[in-house]
Amino acid sequence: MRRMLKVAICAMIMWFGLIELGSFTGDQSNAAKERETVQASEAATAAHYEAKPLLAAHASNETKQQSGKDQPANTEVKPSDSESAEMAEANQKIVYLTFDDGPSKNTEQVLDILKQEGISATFFVLGEHVLGQPEIAKRIIAEGHAIGNHTYDHKYERLYGRFSEFAEQVMKTDKAIYQTTGVRTILFRAPGGTYTNFDQGYFDAMAAAGYQVHDWNVDSGDSKRQGVPASEILTTIKGSKLASKLSVLLHDSAGHTESVKALPAIIKYYKSKGYAFAKITDEVAPIQFKAAGKLKWTRAHVTKTEITKLTQFSEKLSRESSLAQAAKNEPELIVHRGEGKLVLKSGEYSITSGAIEVSLRKLTEWVGGSLLLDVENGLIDAYYDGNRVLSLTSKEIHTSREGQVIVPVRAALQKFEIQITKYVYNDQQREIWLSE
Ligand SMILES: [Zn+2]
Repeated sequence: MRRMLKVAICAMIMWFGLIELGSFTGDQSNAAKERETVQASEAATAAHYEAKPLLAAHASNETKQQSGKDQPANTEVKPSDSESAEMAEANQKIVYLTFDDGPSKNTEQVLDILKQEGISATFFVLGEHVLGQPEIAKRIIAEGHAIGNHTYDHKYERLYGRFSEFAEQVMKTDKAIYQTTGVRTILFRAPGGTYTNFDQGYFDAMAAAGYQVHDWNVDSGDSKRQGVPASEILTTIKGSKLASKLSVLLHDSAGHTESVKALPAIIKYYKSKGYAFAKITDEVAPIQFKAAGKLKWTRAHVTKTEITKLTQFSEKLSRESSLAQAAKNEPELIVHRGEGKLVLKSGEYSITSGAIEVSLRKLTEWVGGSLLLDVENGLIDAYYDGNRVLSLTSKEIHTSREGQVIVPVRAALQKFEIQITKYVYNDQQREIWLSE
């Protein structure tokens, strides 16, 4: 009988767990559906961009892009004073190599080359490929590179036909990246670039939701058609205008072996020109194309409801990520009793309204008691020394994120008639000593 009850408790605990976990795993079923559906080149996009430094609000520094047909007329604008000051202060030319549409097998070779050269880069990944190649996505992070969101499937008609579809793909990809790598990224690159794809509504919605949208100012031309040879990629790069900050568009998706081949020479070229290599961070001012006067697409305006949905999602994920980050940095909780020690890692205990909460099962079993489920009355009972010392109704049961039934440690120990004899709680040390 006892054993059956224990099984029932396990089942109940697992059930609580499922409730908790269910909310965040729903989307994965579609994961592997579409592969390698990346469409025509970003390179075909006309490019008229402005740098938008985050720290200084000032006039943009407009430059002309080499490729693309319907370029808007543009003029060179002298950097404003504040930007000049920033440049002088930094006094270091920086190139951000960016790789779009992966991860794929080619990403592994790109990572090998970057490792050999000792440089960092940025990968704007597709959600579907992150789920298809999770190990490579993890490797990007493990080797110190930046990861950004490049939508889920890269299909222009869907993404730019309706903002709601675009936003869905942004959210789905954020989840895929976060669940796979543990990184919550706010870096974003629009498939095809923003020019003639984004209207002001898209820009505003993304900004409201906290994303930083990065276009580029050097197009390697590696995706203007299939199989652009490495030599041509290198020629295009060398023919591109230099500036103090360069964001170079490259591709690491399947079929881009020539980009991999060209990479060592590209790196050598920028080194010879005195550039330092860096990854894009939240502090890097995005290079952004201007909103085009005329879009490639006809679509409805972005609605407030759509913006709110994306914003709420984004804030929730950021909150979740920072809580997880904070928990990681917390010390373990050590409970001493005689020679015995119960060690709970950060995440295995929590603080709620100033009280330390732990798993009821762990605590009870560690002190030598047991848990029983009173199915008839819907209670969880804790027994200690042959007595029922604690009884929780279903309304009183609290569960952790992992679905464990948790209780405030001090209140629970009082029920067991075990005294806390010493208590240390600070940022470095969290220990409790109990009476025997
Ligand atoms: Zn792309």
